[in-house]
Amino acid sequence: MNNFEHLKGCCACGDVTYKITDNPLFTQACHCKNCKKSTGSSYVIHTMIFEDDLIIEGNVSSTELPTGSGKGYRAYFCINCGVYLYCKYGVSAGRIAIRTATLDNLITPQAHIFIKDKDPWIEINDKEICFDTMYDRDKTWPEESLKRLEEKTKKVIS
Ligand SMILES: [Zn+2]
Ligand SMILES: [Zn+2]
Repeated sequence: MNNFEHLKGCCACGDVTYKITDNPLFTQACHCKNCKKSTGSSYVIHTMIFEDDLIIEGNVSSTELPTGSGKGYRAYFCINCGVYLYCKYGVSAGRIAIRTATLDNLITPQAHIFIKDKDPWIEINDKEICFDTMYDRDKTWPEESLKRLEEKTKKVIS
């Protein structure tokens, strides 16, 4: 991922803006039924970052929603226009998932997950990055991101 210092985004009305101060860890598209429902579209694209790397301005509200795993996640919305900007998963403390399409920058997904629920009229050329359900993180994330995650996790525990 290049030009990371320029990653910034906003909601539809512009009341909430945000900046990401370090390289994202990973970007993935999810085609599962929950993501279809919450986007009102065919899939969501999420860019994973450390929570510390998000600088947000403006007012957001949040609500708890279910995931396929049953562990739940908290979604954050602009209080004015209701656009869903990011979420925190119960299973990944210290990290958040930005809704990639709210960024001003273009990021290409590094994986497509829950392909089993993919809409039939969507064709993904790169089959190498398609996964029926979830992938094995250790085999899929770039080495650098795995290393950063490991270091961060150590710090949180100690
Ligand atoms: Zn807004
Ligand atoms: Zn999903």
